[in-house]
Amino acid sequence: MCGIVGYTGHLQAAPILLDGLSKLEYRGYDSAGLAVRNGEKKTEIVKAKGRLKSLAEKTDNGNALIGTCGIGHTRWATHGEPSETNAHPHMSDDGNVVGVHNGIIENYQELKEKLVRKGYSFYSSTDTEVAVKLIDYYYKKYEHTPVDAINHALVRIRGSYALAMMFQDYPGEIYVARKDSPMILGVTDGDCFVASDVPAILKYTRTVYYIGNLEMARMADGAITFYNLDGDEIEKQPTQIEWDAEAAEKAGFEHFMIKEIHEPKAVHDTINSVVKDGAIDLSEVGLTEEQIKNISQIYIVACGSAYHVGVACQYVFEDLAEIPVRVELASEFRYRKMVLDPNGLVIIVSQSGETADSLAALRLAKKKGVKTLGIVNVVGSSIAREADNVFYTLAGPEIAVATTKAYSTQLIAGYCLAVQFAKVRGSIDDTQYAHLIDEMQQLPDKIAKILEDKERIQWFAAKQANAGDIFFIGRGIDYAISLEGSLKMKEISYIHSEAYAAGELKHGT
Ligand code: GLU
Repeated sequence: MCGIVGYTGHLQAAPILLDGLSKLEYRGYDSAGLAVRNGEKKTEIVKAKGRLKSLAEKTDNGNALIGTCGIGHTRWATHGEPSETNAHPHMSDDGNVVGVHNGIIENYQELKEKLVRKGYSFYSSTDTEVAVKLIDYYYKKYEHTPVDAINHALVRIRGSYALAMMFQDYPGEIYVARKDSPMILGVTDGDCFVASDVPAILKYTRTVYYIGNLEMARMADGAITFYNLDGDEIEKQPTQIEWDAEAAEKAGFEHFMIKEIHEPKAVHDTINSVVKDGAIDLSEVGLTEEQIKNISQIYIVACGSAYHVGVACQYVFEDLAEIPVRVELASEFRYRKMVLDPNGLVIIVSQSGETADSLAALRLAKKKGVKTLGIVNVVGSSIAREADNVFYTLAGPEIAVATTKAYSTQLIAGYCLAVQFAKVRGSIDDTQYAHLIDEMQQLPDKIAKILEDKERIQWFAAKQANAGDIFFIGRGIDYAISLEGSLKMKEISYIHSEAYAAGELKHGT
């Protein structure tokens, strides 16, 4: 997830881009960048690590960049750590194509190898640079028209993207394309805008166009032209935005937590980051089959909701992969004299990758010479950097303090590991393996379906809203889910709540 803004028109672009990006910081904030072009001149690019403030300071609030056409980006890394080099915009070797991207190019490795064979070199670890250079490659190979180059690239790219690009031969023009990542366009009084979300351009226009999957658009001279994948022009009707600016930032939801609950895409992206052609591929996580076979004990160490993920995963690992699992609160693990199995694997689960107790537990495990694996949402965070292996959840930034989508992605990461461990160790057969992967892939749609039934959820909530105390009771994995349900209940509603393993309820409760 990240934020994109583009502008071409009569005004200076950089201040508009910075202002738009400030409305999109909730989508990502590990680094940011601008590319601005002044007429025929070469595009100027400025990037900064950290929050948007650093970029604003570096460019004197945009005043240091002259030009009326530009693109901007606030990043939430999925490929390559947050750094100035990995920050967008990215450009082709000769500056012919400059682009920003929101999403994940799933086959970027394969495309990168192809481009290297064609003589391209790469300066960043991002999938975005690959997309930009692929478009440059087709631009030079074919008709030298941006739309042609983009559609050739789109049919080869697998994954999700919202792309905004400028081409050296086309001053004053911005080209965009989209698949499965949000993008809206707006036009008013000779000015054209593109952004990941409405709040970025709401100040200028309430009339927006939604661009469909695998469609492209050209913004120039105060007009937007839309194209399908064949490069044919298509007609689009604008939509009027009725929300106020604040609601728009939350995509019309009342608050960030409810918005994040409604993001099953987080689960979808996390599954698809490891499932390739019907099988789980842990090569990016860095675990070999040999290593998986030799694990004699798993320790899952975490805090809060991530600890509850661990409790759920304990059942799954033991059930499927038949490996003994211990789940430990990081704050207990680090202050106890833990005897660790030297052939064990310590899995640290943390959304931010900075949870102090979890980080300390990771360091302790490493000191004891045990292999470590982080399940982490923030690329380049301390736990991600220090763990021997990392499984990135792709939840995007989680703004609400109470975790929802990050918890779901951690669960799915744990499930993927368990299913693959089971397969490698021979405790499930090919049919069970295929079935489990298929079931996991259906989860995002199932989550969306449950969330559609708002009336039923509201009816249920209304029935319990006046309770003084709530008990969540379950056995097995339902107990694990009860722990998280109960924590969420007290955290959000302030109703006293406890979780009980069903069999324990009779012991003094
Ligand atoms: N995959 C791109 C990167 O890591 C874009 C990330 C995003 O959408 O936030 O730079």
